[in-house]
Amino acid sequence: MKIAIVGAGFTGLSASFELLKKGHEVFIFEKDSGPGGLAVGFRIKEWGWSLEKHYHHWFSNDYEVVNLAREINYKILKKRPKTSVYVDNKIYQLDSPINVLTFPKLSFVDRIKMAGTIGFLRINPFWKPLEKIKTDEFLLTTMGKNAYKKIWEPQLKNKFGDFAKDISLAWFWARIKKRTPNLMYPYGGFLSFAESLVKECKKKGGKFFFNTKVEEIRGGDKSVKIKYKMVNGKPALPAGRSSMINFDKVIVTLPSFSFIKITPDLPKEYKDKLLSLKGLGAINLVLRLKNQFLKDGTYWLSICDQESPITAIVEHTNFMDKKNYNNEHIIYLGNYLPFDHTYMKMDKDELLKIYDPFLKKINPNYQLSIINSQLFKVPFAQPIIPVNYSRIVPPFETPLKNIYLANIQQVYPWDRGTNYAVELGQKVAELIIKES
Ligand SMILES: Cc1cc2nc3c(=O)[nH]c(=O)nc-3n(C[C@H](O)[C@H](O)[C@H](O)COP(=O)(O)OP(=O)(O)OC[C@H]3O[C@@H](n4cnc5c(N)ncnc54)[C@H](O)[C@@H]3O)c2cc1C
Repeated sequence: MKIAIVGAGFTGLSASFELLKKGHEVFIFEKDSGPGGLAVGFRIKEWGWSLEKHYHHWFSNDYEVVNLAREINYKILKKRPKTSVYVDNKIYQLDSPINVLTFPKLSFVDRIKMAGTIGFLRINPFWKPLEKIKTDEFLLTTMGKNAYKKIWEPQLKNKFGDFAKDISLAWFWARIKKRTPNLMYPYGGFLSFAESLVKECKKKGGKFFFNTKVEEIRGGDKSVKIKYKMVNGKPALPAGRSSMINFDKVIVTLPSFSFIKITPDLPKEYKDKLLSLKGLGAINLVLRLKNQFLKDGTYWLSICDQESPITAIVEHTNFMDKKNYNNEHIIYLGNYLPFDHTYMKMDKDELLKIYDPFLKKINPNYQLSIINSQLFKVPFAQPIIPVNYSRIVPPFETPLKNIYLANIQQVYPWDRGTNYAVELGQKVAELIIKES
């Protein structure tokens, strides 16, 4: 079969790889100049490795993506970096049962209740009964007001804003259940890993068209028409080729609102259902520094302070060796926000001005150490998972025959990630293979 895949993020790459293994003819359209999607990286000429635009790592139980890396002989690194919380203007390591039981900002009773709640979620294998419960109500009841208000409410509110009260316990369960102290990272960065997948797909006959935006998908009973346009002025398809190609099947890996925009024949009822699924964008200000920012060696710092303008500070070089980045220290200042939020309209200097007083509380002299900064924004990065999400997750099949949707909003009960993008790609490929 002749199959088009729209998007060369990890869902598109893994679906392509599976379909190519079965001998299908696969065309991959990607509007950006390279693969990786939300996990895409960039390179600086002084660096040996690429760096993600938004912080990325794998948990050691992210088996789908790790197995895919192994299948193509891609090297993976495993480390145990430090994860901490910022509470009452101080950093506390909080990434083991001992840390929880000795956490000085809570009474002994509160610590026991918090440890009991986390322990229950970790050992409980059943997410289904939890999905009808709201996270905030459950945590308040089980661990009590003190632990909830000090640690968890600020994190939920910083991450989800106005949606914090809607989040299902199934989402929180997944976050606790999947967390491993050891983290993994593809040698050379996620961009290098994505490029290796492209190479493997090309070896099997995959045809990649970068800088090529799909503008319209029209479904027919027997075939699907794709209209595309070259972007950035770089020709991606051979000259003289028509801007419309017919395929037997198309897999779309874009967020739902983008899928709707380019697929005009979708029925209104289906479009409304997709549009009722909510999500947040992400913004990351990356600072390249001469000196370490989080001096205690913390890699991941969750900010438990509702006044903070930042959701998390991630010091990548407290996880991966700084020698891969010309001995620079790299921090991400991350936020999840609706795309119409004022921060989303700001440039990097305007944003740093807002973040600055907060950053100075942690490291008063960091400004002197800045080499450079870069700002990255994406409109859709984190689905909102309300109660009973299983009832509204869209299936791969769409009302238009031969057009399939496989995107970040179908990852459930686990929280979105490249591991689940790989799994999604494999599953949608499997469905198409079965049907062919
Ligand atoms: C801030 C942040 C932190 C994250 N942290 C982690 C982490 O630590 N670990 C982890 O594993 N995951 C993490 N993730 C999640 C992970 O990046 C995503 O779950 C995963 O990359 C989604 O892959 P995808 O292929 O489904 O979608 P996408 O990556 O969104 O791929 C869709 C692709 O389609 C392309 N496209 C869009 N429109 C068109 C068009 N019209 N024509 C052609 N191409 C088009 C896009 O350019 C993109 O490449 C994080 C994400 C963010 C934003």
